[in-house]
Amino acid sequence: MTDHYENVKVQHGQINPNGEEAEEEDDNEEQVPVSSPSVCASPDPIITTPGTDASTSSNVGKRNCKSGVKAVGDDENSSGNPNSNFPWPVVPPYTMKNFNSPGSGQQALKIKGLGRILQGESESNGNYPSKTIQASCKDGFGFSRRPVTVDSSKAKTSLKALKLCIKRLKWKEFPLGRRAPCDIYWHGVSFHDNENIVSGLVNKFPGMVEMLRKINLSRAMRTMQELFPEEYNFYPRSWILPEEYRQFSAQIRLLKEKDTTMNTTFIVKPDGGSQGDGIYLIRDPSDLKPMVGSQAKQAVVQEYIPKPLLIDKLKFDIRLYVLIKSLEPLEIYIAKEGLTRFCTEPYEEPSQKNLSHVFMHLTNYSLNVHSGNFVHSDSQSTGSKRTLSSVLYRLAAKGVDIKWVWSDIIALVIKTSIAVVPELKVYYQADIPPGKPGPTCFQILGFDILLTKNLKPVLLEVNASPSMRIEHEQEVAPGVFEYVPSPVDKEVKVDVIRDTLRLMDPLNKDSTPPQLKAGEFEHGEEIPVDSESQGRSPDENLPSLCLKQVYPKYSKEFNYLRLVERITALFIRFLGVKDNMRLGPTAFRTFIRTCKLNNSNFTMASVDVLYINITRRRSCAIPDSREAGMGLQAFVEAFFYLAGRRFKFLVLKEQVVSLLSLCEAQLGPPSSVEDRRSLSCSRALPRAARTQTLCLPDAQSTSGSAAPLLLPH
Ligand code: ADP
Repeated sequence: MTDHYENVKVQHGQINPNGEEAEEEDDNEEQVPVSSPSVCASPDPIITTPGTDASTSSNVGKRNCKSGVKAVGDDENSSGNPNSNFPWPVVPPYTMKNFNSPGSGQQALKIKGLGRILQGESESNGNYPSKTIQASCKDGFGFSRRPVTVDSSKAKTSLKALKLCIKRLKWKEFPLGRRAPCDIYWHGVSFHDNENIVSGLVNKFPGMVEMLRKINLSRAMRTMQELFPEEYNFYPRSWILPEEYRQFSAQIRLLKEKDTTMNTTFIVKPDGGSQGDGIYLIRDPSDLKPMVGSQAKQAVVQEYIPKPLLIDKLKFDIRLYVLIKSLEPLEIYIAKEGLTRFCTEPYEEPSQKNLSHVFMHLTNYSLNVHSGNFVHSDSQSTGSKRTLSSVLYRLAAKGVDIKWVWSDIIALVIKTSIAVVPELKVYYQADIPPGKPGPTCFQILGFDILLTKNLKPVLLEVNASPSMRIEHEQEVAPGVFEYVPSPVDKEVKVDVIRDTLRLMDPLNKDSTPPQLKAGEFEHGEEIPVDSESQGRSPDENLPSLCLKQVYPKYSKEFNYLRLVERITALFIRFLGVKDNMRLGPTAFRTFIRTCKLNNSNFTMASVDVLYINITRRRSCAIPDSREAGMGLQAFVEAFFYLAGRRFKFLVLKEQVVSLLSLCEAQLGPPSSVEDRRSLSCSRALPRAARTQTLCLPDAQSTSGSAAPLLLPH
């Protein structure tokens, strides 16, 4: 662990980042009112990093990155700008696009393209109601068909944006719900916002909220860091409190003894917190605030990134929208436009004096909006909330190779998704048991990413319910706050929702999407660039899709990371017929016995001790946990332990691959019941697609070395 910690530290040192009332709605299909936000020019770019000025910060992008994306080929030249050496056309980012006007997707403002890849992409993975042609409504492919029905009764703060999209697509909204099933249910918070949905599509996966809480995400990321330390060094070193308080203190003490000048800062984040609530910075474990109340008990303490990239002397972070279109097979799309949220007090590296300056250190909109310095702007490129493309333009104007940044961001998104998918599959099969009717899920996630001074993207967190609000809070009179339209939010979020709906369109499942060409993931190659054919939308009136598929497009490059999914497939096979999420001691014994992992050196008594040690430690950490037994993360820990015992002389990743092969060979192909269980997320898929599930590729050899494991005794 310590080795890894130092490893992460070195990397960072080198390259270092709502219920709104539902409006009364009629069901007629009016055209969406066209809005044309005002235009405002950007001030002179001043891009600085702490301790540097603009003139010294332009050497970024020349580093030798490992995570792998090659320079954009000729495509960027097709933007027509001979000087263009980056993926977005060199057009001032402050020309607002009117996203409601026909053909507006062809305008040059934004990160362009994706049309060729995504054009006609409408493959569905759900158990949809049969296609009936009722009303006349032209779909994206020129066919007349009944409109897609959307239940928006639980959309909460995303309602306004959703309404705009439904109208734009000429679909039919049911704002108060509907007795008959709808094609799509749009939830504001979680899968369970509407209960008893047995068909159609829901825009949330079961378990996503739980999975993306700070502790769970940290655990999942740590598992991947243990297996693939180099690949997962984009997530700051984190400890779970109170469970790992002793390790945290001991490791920091040790580091301070080794290096008396060491002055690392840590950020403490309550587990269930959001919007910066309860977050504070510390420099020593003794600064941790006493945790009171059962809800406040759990937190993540994380290495603080001290040298973020600054613009206008301010720290900022990126909100990137990512669509998980399907878990099985895994399909990931990234929105080519996102938001950046700026602090409102000039940044200084953390010191005892400024640790409590939230407007300097925390980029949360919800906090900074209450600072006197918050700038509401109708422009995309000024103010305290800007579009991602406007920030990238400024970086590009400074000579930064933003292709590299974008490629690193894509890699971060794919790797993070691979880390969380295993547990999501366990939730999925528990909530939507195989053999029972249920909906198919998809979800828009909000990735919060910090760029370090050296342009390395660092994952801060993933939001299961990113705000889709298209207004912002403004103090209209002293102490009186109101929601007023926010052009920047509207610009970005409406496109994301609209194109998510287009991609999920259940009535387009019969259309044949163009074959996706497998991509070569090298730095600079995979950037959303536009060309004539890419930019064309199947519907003349709709812009090209803003969502870009990155997986399975890059599956070849990232599949070797999907080891924990293979462990999860084993876990699910032993869960038993009951649709729970935890293994009891007997099931764990059965797993050991069936896979022939016990022997004279590792008796069934030792197996029981292993089970008790791992599960007790975790249930101690959550005293009010209602669920007994061994969850997936505990099972993975046990699996790592077993792999280490059996294949002592290999590195962890190879130990795990070896044990997986052994177990899979012992178990053989799943029986039909197991098959149904382990493939539950794909039950609506054709058989051929489902059989891919258990054929995750073997790990390829990588250069990473394994971190030491916490072994149960
Ligand atoms: P919340 O869910 O409460 O918003 P986050 O994890 O997003 O919690 O953290 C809040 C803010 O704190 C982030 O937007 C970012 O500005 C800052 N932050 C979080 N983690 C780090 C870190 N490891 N290093 C530097 N800044 C961080």
